[in-house]
Amino acid sequence: MNPTVWLIGAGPGDPELLTLKAVKALSQAEVVLVDDLVNPQVLEYCPQARIVRVGKRGGCRSTPQEFIQRLMLRYARQGLRVARLKGGDPCIFGRGGEEAQWLSDRGVTCEIVNGITAGLAAATSSGIPLTLRGMAQGVTLITAHSQDETTPDWSGLARSGTTLVVYMGVAKVQDMSSQLLAAGMAADTPVAMIERASLPEQRLCPSSLADMARDADAFQLRSPAILVIGQVAACRMFGIADAPPLAEPAARPLRRQA
Ligand code: SAH
Repeated sequence: MNPTVWLIGAGPGDPELLTLKAVKALSQAEVVLVDDLVNPQVLEYCPQARIVRVGKRGGCRSTPQEFIQRLMLRYARQGLRVARLKGGDPCIFGRGGEEAQWLSDRGVTCEIVNGITAGLAAATSSGIPLTLRGMAQGVTLITAHSQDETTPDWSGLARSGTTLVVYMGVAKVQDMSSQLLAAGMAADTPVAMIERASLPEQRLCPSSLADMARDADAFQLRSPAILVIGQVAACRMFGIADAPPLAEPAARPLRRQA
């Protein structure tokens, strides 16, 4: 049988947001490679395992990706039960796909265990319903910081009618604001910037598309943070205090599931 590695999403920070599947896999792991956005409290679920820290935050000293992958491979080939613990969801801006592919090319099977991605947790813990009917047609998860320096299609995003949820955007707030304004998005489009979502020290900076750079600066917004851009960003825990009035959804008879 092929050796297997678990790629586990540790969620955004609050350990209560771990899945039961993640807890089960952690309790069986013998080696756990841990990224630095993972809350150390999560490691209480694998007291038996050897912990290897392999963090690599943008701009900080980092463990090269290739080295981490080789380490996983080495442990797996030794017959150890290996878990790789990543912040949020492993496959949302977490290189889970690339790691699974790299391991699979070398005969190691990966089991991906979903985690709650930071963008969803940041919205919910700030009272923002990301796809509220009448306000957003969907949600788009994007990163402002890509490895290959390609820029997002800002005008396409501005026209999409979806709520934009931006990862790794703190250093790009000014640029994002200018690009979306230039693409025709309204200057008063609500924005919510959420730092350290789901943790006790979570902070929320409400703003607008035109003012987000100034407000982020005054607030001293720091990474990790999520930026939510769109009408729903003005909602607060379904109180919708400062949001424009909602269109009434058309009354529809409830349909029973067959
Ligand atoms: N795989 C992760 C994302 C990794 S990219 C996930 O699914 O959540 C790292 C970025 O995620 C950070 O720059 C930040 O934008 C976001 N992030 C991660 N944890 C966060 C948190 N607790 N609060 C706000 N943003 C967070």
